[in-house]
Formats: sequence, C-alpha cells, structure tokens
Amino acid sequence: MNPWIVKTVILAASVVMIAIRAPHGHRSRGVKVVKSRKGTVETVLLTLAWLGFLVPLVWIASPALSFAEYPLRAGALVAGIACLAVGLWFFHRSHADLGTNWSITLEVREQHRLITDGVYRRIRHPMYMALLLYSVGQALVIPNWVAGPSYLIAFGILFTFRVRAEERMMLDQFGDQYAAYMARTKRLVPGVW
Ligand code: SAH
Repeated sequence: MNPWIVKTVILAASVVMIAIRAPHGHRSRGVKVVKSRKGTVETVLLTLAWLGFLVPLVWIASPALSFAEYPLRAGALVAGIACLAVGLWFFHRSHADLGTNWSITLEVREQHRLITDGVYRRIRHPMYMALLLYSVGQALVIPNWVAGPSYLIAFGILFTFRVRAEERMMLDQFGDQYAAYMARTKRLVPGVW
C-alpha cells in the first residue's frame, strides 16, 4: 500500500486538529489567568507532547525515520482512521463545551466556570480522551515504529502526570461542586474509569 495515503491522512488530521484549536486558543488568551500551576514538570511535559506531535510530521517530510518502517496493513489503516475521526470529533466538542475556560496548561481563568454538560456530563476529561484516541489512531495508521507511537507515548506521559494535579487544582477552585462532579463521573470512560 502506498505510504502517501497515510501521509495525506496524517497531514489532514494534523491540520484539522490545529484548525479546531486555533480559534478557541485565540479566545481563551483574551481572558486573564488568575491562577497558574504551570511549574517545571508541566513545561517539560508540554515540550515532550509537542515533540511527540511533531515526529509524525518529520516522518512525512523527510526520510530520516525510514530505518523504522514496516508494511502497512489495510485493517490497521481503517481502524486508525476511525480513531482519528472520533478523536477529532471529541476534540471539537470538548473545546466547544469548555469555551474560554480552556487552557493548554494548569490554569484558572477570570470568571472560570465549571463545565459539567455536553461531553463533560459523564466523563471529566473528554479532551484527553480525544487526544488519546487521536494518538492511538496515529499509532495504528503510521507504519513506522518511531513516528507511529511517538504522540501516544508523549501524550500518555503528560496525561499520567497531569490528571491528578488538574483534579487537585479544580477541587481547590470549585470545592464541593467539583467533589460532587467527581462523584458522579469517571475520568475517561463512562461507567468504567
Ligand atoms: N481535562 C479536561 C480539560 C483539558 S484543558 C479535558 O480533558 O477535557 C485543561 C484546563 O481545563 C485546566 O487547566 C482547567 O482549567 C480546565 N478544566 C478542566 N476541566 C474543566 C471543567 N470541567 N470545567 C471548566 N474548566 C475545566
């Protein structure tokens, strides 16, 4: 199978992801940050996530990672495209529901409102769910041992370190309201975890 099919898919998915985030990022930046918990660990994790996101683009643009290629399978391609599509849909919905409460890092903004509706009704981290689905999609679609799982590994590390710190920050900010929200929701998979 021609790897250009995959390269086109990955390029298109990356462009869609950036296009979904750009207007929300622009709007959020207009709202003052009143509390920030962006320490050294967060800076390292964000840098790692960016690198993980860029590696597939390096794979598209250059032969530098060709030593790690393996044959592409149709089943993996189809499953991966499905993960990418569902991930992007959740990414769009979670940004739409969070609105200007969104930050790329651990921050509370002026007049921050706790969102518990839409895709936030049953799980607390739909955007992380979206990014995990997206990164699993990349791992399935890209027939390369380095570029395929790079974002999954980087984002998996970010998620592991961040999720508890984020929930602590939200508990400090919203108190009983967030505790009640935690009690009736799961982190990533409704009814499971
Ligand atoms: N963890 C969420 C949000 C990721 S963006 C998700 O995966 O969907 C990270 C920022 O979103 C955090 O810094 C916090 O300020 C904000 N945030 C997280 N959950 C929120 C919620 N339910 N309502 C409002 N803001 C939230």
